[in-house]
Amino acid sequence: MLAHRDGSCVPVEVTTARTIWQGKQVELAIVRDITDRKKAEDEIQQLAYYDTLTGLPNRSLLQDRLGQSIVQAVRDNRKVAIMCLDLDRFKSINDTLGHVAGDSLLATVAERLTECVWETDTVARIGGDEFVIIISAIEHAEDLNKIAEKILAAISKPLALNGQEIFITASIGIAIYPEDGTDVQGLLKNADLAMYKAKDQGRDTFQYFSQEMNVQTLEHLILENSLRRALERNEFVIFYQPQMDLKSGRLVGMEALIRWQHPDLGLLPPSRFIPMAEETGLILPIGEWALQTACAKNRAWMDAGFMPLRVAVNLCGIQFRQKKFIELIEAVLKKTGLAPSQLELELTESMLMSKAEESTTVLHKLKEMGVSLAIDDFGTGYSSLSYLKNFPINRVKIDRSFIRDVPNNPDDTAIVSAIIAMAHNLNLKVTAEGVENHSQLEFLSTRNCNEIQGYLLSSPLPEAEFTRFLRGGMMIQE
Ligand code: C2E
Ligand code: CA
Ligand code: CA
Repeated sequence: MLAHRDGSCVPVEVTTARTIWQGKQVELAIVRDITDRKKAEDEIQQLAYYDTLTGLPNRSLLQDRLGQSIVQAVRDNRKVAIMCLDLDRFKSINDTLGHVAGDSLLATVAERLTECVWETDTVARIGGDEFVIIISAIEHAEDLNKIAEKILAAISKPLALNGQEIFITASIGIAIYPEDGTDVQGLLKNADLAMYKAKDQGRDTFQYFSQEMNVQTLEHLILENSLRRALERNEFVIFYQPQMDLKSGRLVGMEALIRWQHPDLGLLPPSRFIPMAEETGLILPIGEWALQTACAKNRAWMDAGFMPLRVAVNLCGIQFRQKKFIELIEAVLKKTGLAPSQLELELTESMLMSKAEESTTVLHKLKEMGVSLAIDDFGTGYSSLSYLKNFPINRVKIDRSFIRDVPNNPDDTAIVSAIIAMAHNLNLKVTAEGVENHSQLEFLSTRNCNEIQGYLLSSPLPEAEFTRFLRGGMMIQE
């Protein structure tokens, strides 16, 4: 710095040089005013270490600060906490209201976060809607609960965007030095895992890191990642389970049940990946693939000379509610050349109960097309048959939990008998699921149940085995 006579200071750079002047060697001091350069350097600093949108420290500065906090904590024998915070459903707000509104929301969140912590703590923004907070002086572990609660409350206060009132929530994961990690990377990773766990628990909540989380969440993340690629890698397969008409004893149809042939984990049942596919929206392309594959295969079996059969395809709520659902069904039937009557769609009671009016319209259109409609897992939901009569459905499938103990359990026997009798009164066909033995079969026969499906006939079979099953004709082993 060089002080002027007027008292002001300017940053200067001084370099020295030797030269010959008037025959003598002299040393020169060159003093240069570097105000402009200093300003430019400051700007570069700002860009390199701070987030332009919110003015908060960025990832690089966060890492520096966390490193310093750890050194300090070692010296003072203290703990440091890291909170990873991610806004819930930020993407959909950004998509609906636009980026300008999204940016202003992030700026507000940044302000609110800064107000929740001390000046000695660090609030950083490390990516889209991801923030990290370093709490460097913790006296008692319970204080962290209070801070996390305070942050969640601050974020969830309504805010005005584009003249609308918006509610947003966040999920927080907490990792503590030294228990949960002793270096910067390890602590950040574990706080991040805990954050995923908080999301998993329904959002708007916080979670502390724990060792077993490491394995669980990692598995979940790996699975989710590979699920994204499973379709293009052709890893899904459909198994088919036969359905038999009880009166004629003939095979009349089959249910298409999806499996995932995972490269490392082997053959996975739907329970391992359908919920995840629903959460991520991947169920739409996967469900479409299953529908297309099952219809094409059914047509191919008919073309190979087997009796025309009906194939039942399972649907979940998002699929059924997608805008172009009817068009999708039409397109698949047209492309595969399958008659509409050879396709049955399996829906659940809960799918009908949410948005009942819209559902009825879609169901009527399907029925007009000639597609068959079945209610799956009947008896497990809250609706009654009399409620179902409002919907144009063709069949109920009695859930296997009711079939399991018939005819020995008098309650189940009474329930199953009543469902069959009432369904018939309403002109609905009945299929019993999970039929595993002859006494169940005989009981269902005496009650005039229309069709059965279950291990007694066969477990779900891969394509080639199902073809063999078709060739062998219908057989029940005594
Ligand atoms: P679900 O529709 O109730 O399917 C029947 C389940 O019962 C199948 O399990 C089948 O393997 C099993 N099962 C069949 N016979 C018997 C039996 O005699 N005894 C017993 N204990 N179980 C039997 P899976 O294949 O694991 O499928 C589970 C669920 O996954 C299905 O339940 C269905 O809701 C869903 N799912 C399967 N494929 C698809 C699909 O392509 N899309 C959608 N959205 N969901 C599917
Ligand atoms: Ca089903
Ligand atoms: Ca079922």
